[in-house]
Amino acid sequence: MSILSYLKQTWGQDPDNPELTRAQHKTLMRQVPLMYAVMLVNVATPAILFHGEAPFFLTGTVPMLIAAVFIYRAITLYRARDTEQTHAQILQGFRTITKVGVTMSIIMTCWALALFEYGDDLLKGQITAFVGITMLTAVTCLMPLRQVALIVFVAVALPTSVFLLLQRDQVFTGVAINMIIITSAMLLVLRRSHDDFRQRVEKQVELDNQKRELEHLNRAVLRAANEDNLTGLPNRRHFLEKLSEHLEKARTTQRHFAVGLVDLDGFKPVNDLMGYHVGDRLLAEVAARLRAVAPEHITVARIGGDEFGLIFPDADDDERLRKECRNILAALEPEFQLEEGTVAISGTCGIACCTGPDCHTAELFEHAGYALHYGKDSGESGTITIFSDYHERAIKDSAAIGKRLREADLAAVLQLEYQPIIESRSGRTLGMEALARWTDPVLGRVPPDVFIRTAEQTGMIGKVTLTLLGKALSEAAHWPEDNYLSFNLSAQDICSHETMTAIFAAIGRSNISPCRLVFEITESSVMQNFDRAVQSLETLKAAGCHLALDDFGTGYSSLSYVRRLPIDRVKVDASFLRGIEKDAVSLNLVKTISEMCENLNLQCILEGVETRTQADLLNDIGCTAYQGYLFARPMSPHTLAAWRHEYENQTRIAG
Ligand code: C2E
Ligand code: MG
Ligand code: MG
Repeated sequence: MSILSYLKQTWGQDPDNPELTRAQHKTLMRQVPLMYAVMLVNVATPAILFHGEAPFFLTGTVPMLIAAVFIYRAITLYRARDTEQTHAQILQGFRTITKVGVTMSIIMTCWALALFEYGDDLLKGQITAFVGITMLTAVTCLMPLRQVALIVFVAVALPTSVFLLLQRDQVFTGVAINMIIITSAMLLVLRRSHDDFRQRVEKQVELDNQKRELEHLNRAVLRAANEDNLTGLPNRRHFLEKLSEHLEKARTTQRHFAVGLVDLDGFKPVNDLMGYHVGDRLLAEVAARLRAVAPEHITVARIGGDEFGLIFPDADDDERLRKECRNILAALEPEFQLEEGTVAISGTCGIACCTGPDCHTAELFEHAGYALHYGKDSGESGTITIFSDYHERAIKDSAAIGKRLREADLAAVLQLEYQPIIESRSGRTLGMEALARWTDPVLGRVPPDVFIRTAEQTGMIGKVTLTLLGKALSEAAHWPEDNYLSFNLSAQDICSHETMTAIFAAIGRSNISPCRLVFEITESSVMQNFDRAVQSLETLKAAGCHLALDDFGTGYSSLSYVRRLPIDRVKVDASFLRGIEKDAVSLNLVKTISEMCENLNLQCILEGVETRTQADLLNDIGCTAYQGYLFARPMSPHTLAAWRHEYENQTRIAG
C-alpha cells in the first residue's frame, strides 16, 4: 500500500458514511465561525505589534487580505448554517474547507515567517507563539475534519519547525523540537478523538434506528389494538375509548352527544349464500362509503360483524340528528357492484342521546342497541330510531314480563289456541296452527309475540317451547288422523342443541307420527345462524317432520333462502293481503309468490284471510290454502271440537 493511499485511508474522508458526514458538518458549522473569530484576533495582534518594524505590505496589506478572506468565509458559512444540504453538497463543502484551510495555512505561515526577520527576540518569540496558537486553533476547530487537521500540521508545523531549526539558535531549536513533539502528540489525540467521534455517531445512528423501529412497532401495535383490520375503521375498543372521551367532555361542557349503532339489512344473506369472502369485501366497501360520507366530526367505527358505530358530538336537536344519520345511511342506497354480482343492502340505526351528567357508556350502548332492535323488529328496513321515554317504559314492561314469566309455573299458565288451515277448493281442514297464550294474574293477557320475545331475551324460550310442544302433542293426539299440527319454533330453539334434542324426545314420547307435524320457522330466525339452523331443520326433515317458512315476505324473502332450506311449505304473511280487493298490483304480487311456490313444489298458505271477497280473489288466481278469521279465529282446545263439528256439517251441506 502506498503512503498516499495509507494516508487517505487513515486520515481521509469516508464518503460512504452519510450519517458521519452529517454529524461532522453539524459540528463544523458550530466551530468554524468561532475559529475565524479567533484567527482574526491572531492576525491583528502580530500586525499591530510589527507595525513600524516591518513594511506596510506585511503589517497592513497582507493581514487585511487575510482578514477579508476570513470574514467572507465566516459570513458565507453563517448564512448557510440553517439550509438543509444533501450528502453531495456537504462533501463539496468539506472540499472547499480543505482547500481554503490549506491555502490559508500556507499564506499565514509564509506571512508569519516573513515578519520573523523584522522582529527583535521578543517579537520573534511572539511570532512563534502566534504560529503555535493559530495551528492549535485550526486543528481544534477543524477536529471533525481530520484530513484538514493533518494538512494544517504539514503546512504549518513542519515548515515553521524547519525554519526555526535553520535559525541555529538554541532557544528556537528547542521551540522547533517542542513544536514537532506537541503537534505529533496532538495528531495522535486527534485521530483517537476522531475515532471516538465516529463511534459516537455510529452508536447514535444505531440508537436512532432502534428508536425508529420501536416507534414503528409502537404505531403498529397501537393500530392493531385500535383499528379494525378488515375495514381500517376504528374498532370496538377504540370506539368505547372515544365514547368515554365524549362522556368526560360532556360532563364538563354539558354538551349533548349521541351514539348510533347501525346494523346492515340484507348483509346476512350475502354472507350465508355468497360466502364470507364476499361478505368481507362488502363490509370493507360499506365502511369506505360510511367514512366518505360522514362529516369529519362524526366518529365511524366497526363494532363487530355487520354492526357499525357512530358518535354524533352534537345532539341537541333530534330532527337534526335524524337528518345527519339519514344522510350517512343514504350512502348505502346505491347498489354494491361486486365481482359475484350486484348487492342491495340498507342500514338500520338505533340512537341513544347523552343529555345529562349521569349517563354511562354501558347504558348508552344498551339503549342504542335497544333502539336498533326496535327498528329492526318494525320490519321496515333502513329505519332510524332514537331511544326515548317510550322505549324506557317498554324496557321496564319487558322486565316486568320477564320477572312474571320466570316466577310462573309454565305448565299451568301457558295455554294453546288452535287456528285451522283450510284447503280452499274442498274446504277441508288440513291442519291447525298452535298459538301460544299466557294470561298472567297481574299483567293480564300478554300477546304471544311479546312474551315469546321476552322469553328469548331472558333465555327461557327453550322451557316455554318444550312446555307448549308437550301440550300441543297431547292435544293433537285427539284430532283426526288427516289433520296436522303446525307448531312455531323460535330462532334460539333451532340453534340450541339441547332444545332440539328435547323436541325429538317429546315427539318420540307422543302418539303422533312425525309426518303429522309441521314446524314453522321464520327467515330471520334462520339467519341468526344459518348453518346451524339448516342442520337442525335437516334433522327434523329426516325424522319425517314437515317444515314451513312462516311470515314469508316480511324478511328478505330471498329466493336463495327458500331454495337452500329443506322446507315444503311457505306461509305468506297477512300483510300481503292488505288492500288486494282494490289494488291489482298487490294481488299480482300474491299471484307471483303463489306461482313461485308451485314451481318450487312448495305448498303456499295465505295467512290473514278475513273476508269472502279476499278468498274469492285468491281462489281466482289459483291459491289453494288459507288461514284466517274468515274460517276461524284461534280457538281453545275445548271450542275446537265444537267448531270442527259445526264446520264439517256446513262444508258437507255446501258441498
Ligand atoms: P304467526 O305464527 O304468523 O301466527 C299467525 C298470527 O296471525 C297469529 O297471531 C294469529 O292469531 C294471527 N291471525 C290469524 N288469522 C288472522 C287474520 O285473519 N287477521 C289477523 N289480523 N290476524 C290473524 P298471534 O296468535 O297473536 O301470534 C303472533 C305471533 O306470535 C305468531 O305469528 C308467532 O310468530 C308468535 N307465536 C305464537 N305462538 C307461538 C309459539 O308457540 N312459539 C313461538 N315461537 N312463537 C309463537
Ligand atoms: Mg306461525
Ligand atoms: Mg305467520
